[in-house]
Amino acid sequence: MREQTWIVDPATGDLVAEGLTAEEVSALADDLLPTGHDLNCARPLVSLPLPDSTPSSGPILRVARLYHSSVVDGPGRRSVCQVQGCTLGCPQCGLSSTHPTDGGVLLSVETVAGLLLDPASQPRDGITITGGEPTLQPNGLLALLQRLKAHGVHIVVYSGYTLEALAQRPEPEIHACLRLIDLLIDGPFVARLADDAGEWRGSRNQRVIPKPGEWLEQAEAVEID
Ligand code: SF4
Repeated sequence: MREQTWIVDPATGDLVAEGLTAEEVSALADDLLPTGHDLNCARPLVSLPLPDSTPSSGPILRVARLYHSSVVDGPGRRSVCQVQGCTLGCPQCGLSSTHPTDGGVLLSVETVAGLLLDPASQPRDGITITGGEPTLQPNGLLALLQRLKAHGVHIVVYSGYTLEALAQRPEPEIHACLRLIDLLIDGPFVARLADDAGEWRGSRNQRVIPKPGEWLEQAEAVEID
């Protein structure tokens, strides 16, 4: 039997069902629920309008979408930055529009942080950075995580690289990012492992890793010994 996840948004009462089509949900619970509709992989359909001005100074990020009130991109109800650009090429990736590295919109990190932290989008349990591949923009990613951490935000980051591969990356910003992340969801999407992937993940190989910075410190201590 396929795994199903039913999530109730405590702020709105909306019910999101993962692992079932709208027709299957209706067949199961039509007498209890109003008519449902398919969502964008259970994500909110409405994205924020992105400013079109090119930033003139400071750290920048190339962004595909920003949206609030997601209940499928990590624990609780989250604001989400979907960055633009990915070169990993996981077969059957459903996010091909985020792959071109010259797509999306270039925004200052300050603008991105301001939109994600918009007080009008409360309640919010945290912020998620997904992609595309967030670690392809190490400078912008680190600057964003630093700004969010300064506000005490719980941060989830998705990466198509495994934690072990990220630890091997030469850019010092990647290690600094790992130390600021509360929850890393790592690894490429593998289509044949997509069934029953579990909450927040696209395929069963992906791992939900709390505090990857602590793992990194232990790995570095072993290297020094
Ligand atoms: S890392 Fe993510 S965005 Fe990139 S190809 Fe894989 S699933 Fe798609």
